[in-house]
Amino acid sequence: MPRPEVSEHADLAGLSTFRLPARAAQLVVLDQLEQLPELPIRAGAPGDRLILGGGSNTVFLDDWPGQVVLNRLRGVATETLSPDRVRVRVAAGESWHRLVRWCLDQKLYGLENLILIPGLVGAAPMQNIGAYGVELADVLESVTVWDWSRQASAEIPAAECGLAYRDSRFKSSERGRFLITAVAFRLSRTFRPVLGYRSLADALAERPLSDPRPRQLAATIMRLRRRRLPDPARLANAGSFFKNPVVSPDQARSLLCEHPDLPHWRLADGRVKLAAGWMIEQLGWRGHRIGDAGVHEHHALVLVNHGRASAGQLAELIGVLRQSVRTAFGVVLEPEPQLIGWSENEKRG
Ligand SMILES: Cc1cc2nc3c(=O)[nH]c(=O)nc-3n(C[C@H](O)[C@H](O)[C@H](O)COP(=O)(O)OP(=O)(O)OC[C@H]3O[C@@H](n4cnc5c(N)ncnc54)[C@H](O)[C@@H]3O)c2cc1C
Repeated sequence: MPRPEVSEHADLAGLSTFRLPARAAQLVVLDQLEQLPELPIRAGAPGDRLILGGGSNTVFLDDWPGQVVLNRLRGVATETLSPDRVRVRVAAGESWHRLVRWCLDQKLYGLENLILIPGLVGAAPMQNIGAYGVELADVLESVTVWDWSRQASAEIPAAECGLAYRDSRFKSSERGRFLITAVAFRLSRTFRPVLGYRSLADALAERPLSDPRPRQLAATIMRLRRRRLPDPARLANAGSFFKNPVVSPDQARSLLCEHPDLPHWRLADGRVKLAAGWMIEQLGWRGHRIGDAGVHEHHALVLVNHGRASAGQLAELIGVLRQSVRTAFGVVLEPEPQLIGWSENEKRG
């Protein structure tokens, strides 16, 4: 078995789509499962090891003092469960977007609304990725992990992954404990389009399709995404930078009294999710820059690196936006990407 590729004092800027300058003490490329038990250990504590997939949800505000494991495990397998149901098991290092396209080619349905989300399959359960009315939880069957503390593999059923809005046990309560090696999805041979999401429904109404077919739906979603979000290959960014805050029904009522246009969604548990981008936009921050760190000029929820942004500039911009939203609306914005080097003080806002 080939030993994993290892480099010291490794440059991380090109491994994160926000492209801030940063280095890792050690970088290890994992491309075979058998390498896991023998992965050269730089530091024993799990917190000193960081897994990186496509780096589209990781922003380096500082160097990483320990080991970065670059997940490059590949492979896809299918298993027919019934005439309609197919299990697709995918290694964590496969590209998410390519997986969605491959499923469309195979006439396997369930993932089409999630097309064009950047990153790799292994990161998808981390924050229960979602878009256009579908989230990973809708199709996830199980996650296979390597448990660093037990030095063993385990399979975790979807119901035990703690999936919630942009969250999971992997991202919060057990951060750092597992490396996700594979993800299993339960897909269908029958196309059951999910068309209820407002902007998708509007786009479909503009060009009515009596019976939208899978490829037409995927093409519509790609068009919407390209219109809305900057391509990280051209303008460095990490997608939506803040989660939409979730507040109590009482707080929502008083906010909506004052701001009747504030877009909001009622959740099953009675709480209310508010549009973070709307609040930032209302406060006039769209297009604002601190050095090369800026708020995107068309989409207030997306922060961008115009070229040579420093970690200090981005940290200052995050602070200014959070303070402004907190003062005006009384809610604390929580960053969606993992911010490496963001202190506990800053997290509290
Ligand atoms: C332009 C743009 C649009 C986006 N649109 C969306 C969207 O519509 N919906 C959405 O939900 N997200 C969206 N995102 C965010 C991002 O693409 C997703 O969160 C994606 O799943 C991240 O994948 P990645 O491989 O790049 O993750 P990375 O940034 O490499 O990792 C993200 C986190 O997961 C951990 N991790 C990664 N792989 C593993 C593994 N194998 N085992 C254990 N931990 C791991 C990392 O340590 C890190 O904490 C968008 C991002 C961009 C830049």
